[in-house]
Amino acid sequence: MPVIDQIPDLVLFGVPALVVVGAVVGLFVRRSRGTGDVASKETPPTTAVPGDRVPDVTAASAEVEAPAELEVLAEPEAADPTAPAIEAPEPVAGRLQRLRARLARSGSPLGAKLLDVLSRESLGEDEWDELEETLLLADVGAGPTGELVDALRTEVKVSGTRDAASVRSLLRTKLIELVDPSLDRELHLEGADGAPAVVLVVGVNGTGKTTTVGKLARVLVAEGKTVLLGAADTFRAAAADQLETWGSRVGVATVRSDKDGADPASVAFDAVHRGRAESAGVVLVDTAGRLQNKAGLMDELGKITRVITREAPISEVLLVLDATTGQNGMNQARVFAEVAGVTGIVLTKLDGTAKGGIVVAVQRELGVPVKLVGLGEGPDDLAPFEPEAFVDGLLGE
Ligand code: GDP
Repeated sequence: MPVIDQIPDLVLFGVPALVVVGAVVGLFVRRSRGTGDVASKETPPTTAVPGDRVPDVTAASAEVEAPAELEVLAEPEAADPTAPAIEAPEPVAGRLQRLRARLARSGSPLGAKLLDVLSRESLGEDEWDELEETLLLADVGAGPTGELVDALRTEVKVSGTRDAASVRSLLRTKLIELVDPSLDRELHLEGADGAPAVVLVVGVNGTGKTTTVGKLARVLVAEGKTVLLGAADTFRAAAADQLETWGSRVGVATVRSDKDGADPASVAFDAVHRGRAESAGVVLVDTAGRLQNKAGLMDELGKITRVITREAPISEVLLVLDATTGQNGMNQARVFAEVAGVTGIVLTKLDGTAKGGIVVAVQRELGVPVKLVGLGEGPDDLAPFEPEAFVDGLLGE
């Protein structure tokens, strides 16, 4: 067949075939380009979510639609783009070393006074009396003061040398002995049988209890633990908000009641129950510190303890004491020790007092070690207690 005769066939079959193939290819190319265009328009690189995660819009709207639940179980607002960024707490090791200057800065430091008296030309009865008085004024307590003065008298008589360096080194050794480095100051947070470790924080309101729970949450987060807070101080209206703010700064949730004056035991129970369900490492429970009377306190703390232990054993009961309150603080400590089975003491506001001697007195009186000390209002101003660093702080080193 001549070529000219084939043209109609080409027109009839070949051209439409080419058009169809071209259209399909064109469509494919346009679609893939189009997808790229949409993708690049809708998710510009500047708004990319780290880890290639697409923001979960459903989850966000579900959160907005469920305010009732959020009132009871306050989650940290990590998913909210307007929420403050999660902070990284300072490392815990060596905190007291870093903060020790605050001990020497507080008023008239105990160590400086002791060094001054011990370095005088001659040490007569007046000097030993002055030394004793200085220790008593710093709340070291009568028994430990007597022991320290006797030990210093003996050493000075035996060694005979009283140059500045040897006096300082002698005083340092004796003060460390008095603070007792042999005490177990670990927080025991192992938890049992899949249950979280539970730390009950007790003490009179105003001593720094809620602040300490917040700071302690940061310490534990810095150590890689998963933490949950229980706002069982339902007596003081602002305490739960305060706690929630502390927690949200380090991505820690707070279990609280939406009612003022709710039953603290029920909040404590909810916190530990949820801690168990979520496999939290540690649940920190803040309690109210009304020192109405011993029987009332015993009832309240007794009930909290009973309901918590249905879910998990209590690992630590930390008593928060304000170091600036002197003898009054010691009286509170005695009551709490009797009713709450205290396992450790947190001494707060040591940055604002010359009465660092209370560390010695309270340990002796209660037979319980000081485990943590508060040295300021900053979020990381809570340090594990180390006798050597503490004494160095007192001596102004
Ligand atoms: P709570 O009633 O026992 O829960 O006491 P708060 O936690 O509300 O604390 C009472 C006040 O003590 C707050 O102003 C805290 O900032 C302050 N505070 C707590 N610990 C320390 C500390 O170690 N040093 C200083 N200077 N202030 C502290």
